[in-house]
Amino acid sequence: MKIIHDRSKCIGCGACVNICSKYFEMSEDGKACLKNAKELGGEKYELEVEDVGCAQEAADSCPGGCIHIE
Ligand code: SF4
Repeated sequence: MKIIHDRSKCIGCGACVNICSKYFEMSEDGKACLKNAKELGGEKYELEVEDVGCAQEAADSCPGGCIHIE
């Protein structure tokens, strides 16, 4: 499975980091980062994972709709 993070829509609320610090951390620019993710371009990042775990709840809670699970 893949976690997709679209940073262009991130408002830096920190919800994903609070819910799922396993996969997300705050960056110096005030937006969240998907840890160890591959850059896809256009501020989109993806990380392949075996277990989505808390990232699903982070996706459900993100007010910007920036996190997607595929
Ligand atoms: S929950 Fe969404 S908007 Fe908030 S910091 Fe995380 S990615 Fe950005």
